[in-house]
Amino acid sequence: MKQRSASSASASGRADGSFDIRNELRLRPTEDGTVDLAGYPTDTTAGIGDRKTAERAFADIGVQLGDLHERLIANGDRSFLVVLQGLDASGKNGIAKHVGRFFDPSGLHVTTFGPPTAEEARHGFLWRIRKQVPAPGTITIFNRSHYEDAIVPVAVGASTPSEVARRIRQIRDFEQELLDAGTVIVKCVPHISYDEQRERFLRRLTRTDKQWKFSEADLDTRKRWSEFQASYAMVLGQTDRDEAPWYIVPADRRWYRNWAIARLLADTLADVARPYPHTALDVDRLRANLEAPN
Ligand code: AMP
Ligand code: MG
Repeated sequence: MKQRSASSASASGRADGSFDIRNELRLRPTEDGTVDLAGYPTDTTAGIGDRKTAERAFADIGVQLGDLHERLIANGDRSFLVVLQGLDASGKNGIAKHVGRFFDPSGLHVTTFGPPTAEEARHGFLWRIRKQVPAPGTITIFNRSHYEDAIVPVAVGASTPSEVARRIRQIRDFEQELLDAGTVIVKCVPHISYDEQRERFLRRLTRTDKQWKFSEADLDTRKRWSEFQASYAMVLGQTDRDEAPWYIVPADRRWYRNWAIARLLADTLADVARPYPHTALDVDRLRANLEAPN
C-alpha cells in the first residue's frame, strides 16, 4: 500500500487563481536555510488530478515545448539547462526520454554523469561539467550533475565541512557564470519515497528487460537513505535561488512527474521566449524570382 503524503502547500495559485506549478513545487527553505525533504510529497496529484487528464495535458504541453524550443533555436541567443538530480530509480532517465522527445533533437543534448573516470578525477569536479553546458540556442538535460560532487561526499562522510562549503561556493559561482552568459537554469529533483524505490528495484530485478539497470551499488546507496536525504536537503538549501531554482517533483507516479516537469519547463521557457526573429528578406523580390519562368 502506498502511503499518501499530506497535501502540499495550498498557496500555489497565480494572482488570477490559476494553478502555478513552479510555485507549487519550488523548494522552500526555512528562514535559516534548512530544508526537510520529508515535508515534500512524493505522490501528490496537485494541479492535474487524474492520469487521463495529465496524459492529455502532457501531449498538449509537448506541442508548446516544441514551439518554444524552435524559437530558442531561431533566435540563438539564450540556452536552457535542465538539471535532473535524484536518487537511483527516481525517474531521471524516464523524464529525459519522455519530455526530451518534444524537443528538436538537433538542438538537444542529454548528458549522463556517472562516477568520475580516472581522467575526470584528476581535474576539478567542474571540468567535465563545463564541457557539456548548452551552446546558445540549445537545450541540455543533465542526468545527474555537478551536484553529485557535493551530495555524495557529504552523504558518505567523505569530505570535511570546509571542502563542502568550497564546492558549494564553486557551484554557485559556476551557475552565476552560466546565467551571465544567457543560460536559463532549472533544477529538478524527482522525489520518490523509500517504498517506491524498493518497488522499482524489485521490478528491475524481476524483469529481464530491466535487470541491466540494476547495480549492487544501488543497494549501498539505499542503505544510506537518510544520509542522502539529509545531504540533498543541505545542498539544495544552499544552492537555491530565484535565478537557478530547485523544484521538488513528486515522482512516485510517472504520469504526474512527466506532466509536472513538462509544465514547469514550458512555463520557464515561455517567460524568456522571444517571437521568431524578424528578417530583412525582400520577400516580394525573392518570390518573384522563384516564380519567374526559367
Ligand atoms: P546510474 O545513474 O545508475 O548510472 O549511477 C551513477 C552512479 O554514479 C550513482 O551512484 C552516482 O551517485 C554516481 N556518481 C555520479 N557522479 C558522481 C560523482 N561526481 N561523484 C561520485 N559519484 C558519482
Ligand atoms: Mg542507477
